[in-house]
Amino acid sequence: MIDMSISNLVKLLKDVFLNPRTDHDIIDIFIIGGGINGCGIARDAAGRGLIVELAEMNDLASATSSASTKLFHGGLRYLEYWKLRLVREALLERETLLRAMPHISWPMRFILPYHKDMRFEGDTPTSKLLSILMPWMKGRRPAWLIRFGLLLYDNLGGRHILKGTTALKLSGTPEGEPLYDHFEKAYEYSDCWIEDSRLVVLNARDAEARGARINVRTRVISAKQVDGIWHITLQNSQNHDRRIVRAKLLVNAGGPWVEDIIRKTVRINTHEGVRLVRGSHIITHKLYNHDKCYFFQGEDGRIAFTIPYETDFTLIGTTDVDHNDLNIKPICTPEEQNYLIEFVSKYLKVQISNKDILSTYSGVRPLYNDGDSTAAAATRDYVLKMDTSTGAPLLNIFGGKITTYRKLAETALEKIATVFPKAAKPWTAGAALPGGDFPVDGVVEITQKLISNYKFLTTPWATRLIKAYGTEAFKLLGNAKTKEDLGQSFGATLTAQEVIWLVEKEYARTAEDIIWRRSKLGLRLTPPEITFLDKWMECKFAGVASGTII
Ligand SMILES: Cc1cc2nc3c(=O)[nH]c(=O)nc-3n(C[C@H](O)[C@H](O)[C@H](O)COP(=O)(O)OP(=O)(O)OC[C@H]3O[C@@H](n4cnc5c(N)ncnc54)[C@H](O)[C@@H]3O)c2cc1C
Repeated sequence: MIDMSISNLVKLLKDVFLNPRTDHDIIDIFIIGGGINGCGIARDAAGRGLIVELAEMNDLASATSSASTKLFHGGLRYLEYWKLRLVREALLERETLLRAMPHISWPMRFILPYHKDMRFEGDTPTSKLLSILMPWMKGRRPAWLIRFGLLLYDNLGGRHILKGTTALKLSGTPEGEPLYDHFEKAYEYSDCWIEDSRLVVLNARDAEARGARINVRTRVISAKQVDGIWHITLQNSQNHDRRIVRAKLLVNAGGPWVEDIIRKTVRINTHEGVRLVRGSHIITHKLYNHDKCYFFQGEDGRIAFTIPYETDFTLIGTTDVDHNDLNIKPICTPEEQNYLIEFVSKYLKVQISNKDILSTYSGVRPLYNDGDSTAAAATRDYVLKMDTSTGAPLLNIFGGKITTYRKLAETALEKIATVFPKAAKPWTAGAALPGGDFPVDGVVEITQKLISNYKFLTTPWATRLIKAYGTEAFKLLGNAKTKEDLGQSFGATLTAQEVIWLVEKEYARTAEDIIWRRSKLGLRLTPPEITFLDKWMECKFAGVASGTII
């Protein structure tokens, strides 16, 4: 007699009817890791007709992919390392990505104040060359070099939407006003903002819409190959249920855990390694009144950004500190907080102290270990390594940037083309992410349309919804005629209807998922409001939280 509980029966029926695949099938690709690289590869592969499944042990984007500086950028400073391929690829990507997601990404202008005492980062190839050719500069960056770098930056990657570099006299301008008077000139250039954690979730959703199966709160605890097929054991992190999936190819997109997964989960000896470098950010109240960012150069050769953030705040980052123990959750240490405060205090007239820090976040860069001496010098490029030593193919992903995730996914699919010769061609360039099907400069127009359809919305509320959900904001609000139609209000314009959307469509499970990764409402909600949201979700979604996932 078959012993089956009601919940298991429901799960089985769901699998059979909603997802025609059964556990006896062998799928094409299994992906470990629901950061940007795992979800980007899942979307690309599913869109090419491959059968894909992904497991993320926590929430999507719960590790590095929600802790970035949130820029689609070429990386101006990498030019000093002569990383032309990386910079060019990233620069070219900015506009491709912007077009596909004008709701969660937008152009930003960066002010780079110049002062003759500015120094190079440690020992970059450029600084070494300069010390031979111009020894009297003693490690200082000459103005012509910055100009040359920005000229390259403007022209290396095709630019149609983003404005080019301009030189700026700071005196008497809104851009000069927050800075000390001895900063007289600056350069202004373009890069783009990206809502990093929403980018991950939208890639996961699009992957699912194209047939992929996305499991959150599901850890891969082992993967072994049997007769050329991977047998991957998954464990639901909440109810501890286990399940085995069989796949032809395994992708290890574990980010900071990539090496750990190779050694302990797949159990392969490897000489490939990852260098873990922590980067931290602090958030303060808005420090100045214009909407441009600053790119500051420190006396130690490092750089820091100040970025207008969530309308009322300023984001400041980042640090570069080796972080060797994955069991230690990355946090912005008091030393890093002081470092960032001192850094910007050399530029901004407004004096800030630790008391002005409202929030911090920290992430670990999973850089490919190329043996470089300093954390800042380690390559930011991605490295994809195919391993067939066990008989079944394993693709390990090292490094990368949010900016190059789509290209990384394309390169991954290229690398595994011999395993799946019938897979379709590259397709993601130009394909909008969910909600991104409107023109690049269309945010204002679509926000006005939302307000005219839903008269109860305030402008900040409508803008927040459009910049999170794009055209899908209309679906989210549905037939609501009044605020009350959206159900329980949790504060800061968050309502039950939005929370339900985030749970049902965007894999959110807890208040933390909602207020820090699907949105940044954690900056506005009070602790009692957050506790109430958590409790409300616990009651409302008890079944979801307790394991209908695996
Ligand atoms: C401070 C900082 C600033 C940055 N700024 C920028 C920027 O402005 N622009 C830019 O382009 N890039 C930036 N980056 C780089 C970028 O954020 C990373 O390259 C990118 O997020 C890495 O994504 P990932 O998917 O490889 O890793 P992650 O996002 O860490 O994802 C890996 C996932 O794998 C999961 N996982 C691990 N083991 C298992 C397992 N056994 N089972 C299931 N799941 C597992 C983890 O939980 C994790 O969610 C920055 C990085 C940092 C740290």
